[in-house]
Amino acid sequence: MPIYKAPVQDFKFLIEHFLELENHQDMPGVAAAKELVTPLLEASAQLCEEVLFPLNRVGDQQGLKYENGKVITPEGFKEAYKTYCEGGWPTLTWPAEYGGQDLPEFLNMPMLEMVCSANLSFGLTPGLTHGAIHALLLHGSEEQKKTYLPNMISGKWSGVMCLTEPVAGTDLGLIKTRAEPNADGSYKITGTKIFISAGEQDQSENIIHLVLARLPDAPKGTKGISLFLVPKFIPDAAGNHATRNGFSCASIEHKMGIHASPTCVMNYDGATGWLVGAPHRGLPAMFTMMNTARLYVGVQGLGVGEAAYQNALVYAKDRLQGRALTGTKFPEKPADPITVHPDVRRMLYTMKSFCEGARALTLMVALHIDIAHRHPDATKRQEADDFVQLMTPILKSSLTDGGFDTASTAMQVFGGYGYIEEYGASQYLRDARIAMIYEGTNGIQAMDLVGRKLPYETGRYLKAFFHPLDAFIAEHRNNPAMAEFTKPLKAHMKYLQQASLWVGAMGLANPNHAGAGAVEYQKMFALVVYAYLWAKQAEIALRMLSSPPLPEGIDREFLEAKLATARFYFAKILPGTTSLLASITAGADPVMAEGL
Ligand SMILES: Cc1cc2nc3c(=O)[nH]c(=O)nc-3n(C[C@H](O)[C@H](O)[C@H](O)COP(=O)(O)OP(=O)(O)OC[C@H]3O[C@@H](n4cnc5c(N)ncnc54)[C@H](O)[C@@H]3O)c2cc1C
Repeated sequence: MPIYKAPVQDFKFLIEHFLELENHQDMPGVAAAKELVTPLLEASAQLCEEVLFPLNRVGDQQGLKYENGKVITPEGFKEAYKTYCEGGWPTLTWPAEYGGQDLPEFLNMPMLEMVCSANLSFGLTPGLTHGAIHALLLHGSEEQKKTYLPNMISGKWSGVMCLTEPVAGTDLGLIKTRAEPNADGSYKITGTKIFISAGEQDQSENIIHLVLARLPDAPKGTKGISLFLVPKFIPDAAGNHATRNGFSCASIEHKMGIHASPTCVMNYDGATGWLVGAPHRGLPAMFTMMNTARLYVGVQGLGVGEAAYQNALVYAKDRLQGRALTGTKFPEKPADPITVHPDVRRMLYTMKSFCEGARALTLMVALHIDIAHRHPDATKRQEADDFVQLMTPILKSSLTDGGFDTASTAMQVFGGYGYIEEYGASQYLRDARIAMIYEGTNGIQAMDLVGRKLPYETGRYLKAFFHPLDAFIAEHRNNPAMAEFTKPLKAHMKYLQQASLWVGAMGLANPNHAGAGAVEYQKMFALVVYAYLWAKQAEIALRMLSSPPLPEGIDREFLEAKLATARFYFAKILPGTTSLLASITAGADPVMAEGL
């Protein structure tokens, strides 16, 4: 049977030591947040391990039922959603004005990851609501915020995003759904949306659809798309959800994974909607929501990867096959555990170095989101936002590619048993795959990186990464214990700068050069980002080990494992930059050649 144990010690290490919160004391909320780290981690671990995780297999095996437009979630999901909401978990980061707790994102991030590890399907509904709340907070009218946000923040009502249509996936300029003005200022929404996650379900009392549609005078393409709020039940003046709106769920998809998350075909038959933000400005508004959602989808990859890794590790320690190459290690047993084999250890360290590197990235980005929103100094807010902008495509793609690769590697560690459903490894592989596709495929993330983020104001976003990286290398230049990390970090940073210059210059001359190498560039960028994060973690581990006593909640074994994993990353994973550089600089000719 699969297991899941929340990585509480790693979260504590990252939040209390790696984030260097002492440098951000002047930011509102930081001092109070420090007191909450341990109780929040422990309470969310308990909810995820004891309530959500036991439902993960139930959801996969039982799946969803569709009956006359209604979607019935698997046994226990409705009750678990109620427990999740009653615990106040959806409210953590939102403004107190609307019933939130105003806590920083870096305290919310561990909960997001734990939910995705414990039960990805369950996590989708609150995850999408999070994005919808964000879009309404930034673009909704005062009345819309007052009417909808308190119930969405408490989780009583959920939110979904409705972009995709049969002919409009990546290319939202092709959207056909229409919005015609009514006399009372509302709009009549008509059209079909497909693949709408949680478009219909039985967990929340109301479902607020944020729908992209075209006004009658809309220009063609993406400049003619507006955003509408279309509630399943239209609230009356007292805020009670009174009237059933004119739309329905026509069917749900049968899919490879996330079997307990309904993926709905939605028909809007003259449904009543209200414009959010300005006419024809729906896409920028939706993008606010999508950026939040992209980070969250990245965390989905990490969450599933972490769960898959934990199960592979337990299995590998138990499975007896063959003998160690250097001689028998456990003569009393009929064979040695497979953890003695270098190739199995390679797989386990690859997974561990991904999960812990990726976790460090999510927390660092969360802290920068907090700085960008809360810091009193405008320059610091700007620099932090630049970092988040640059990291969004890198985080989304590297965590979802890495999550799927990790689930696949975990299956390999299980051998044939991994392919058999009852061991759980195959559910992780099936569940993880979608995260590379939705919220903008990882190829589209790469186009965002090379097309928007790289050239922005002649490299302004790039500086948000290269400057702190340079400063870190300079700070530890004279520390001999760090040389094994800082020297290769500098060398690989230079390869990345070389690749950035090549993509920037050659992409200007011929955009196909940038397009052909975009995914490789994104992967190379991620390798260097993770190297920086691993070097930082190694530096803290070295410092703690050389100056006992160890901080409360951190033990020696954990720190030694950190160092071993950092060394593995630098020796076995980071060198991948050089083959990626060769592939990037091969340019467009090999892929644009006639021959397909
Ligand atoms: C389970 C599930 C849940 C989903 N949930 C939602 C949801 O809640 N709301 C919602 O609105 N949508 C949702 N989607 C839709 C999802 O976001 C889209 O499937 C995704 O954006 C890709 O669109 P597409 O499937 O039409 O693929 P296409 O756009 O047809 O892309 C096909 C391939 O072509 C590539 N491609 C396309 N255009 C370009 C380009 N310009 N440059 C380079 N490469 C390109 C893509 O990267 C991809 O590899 C969901 C989908 C699934 C399967």
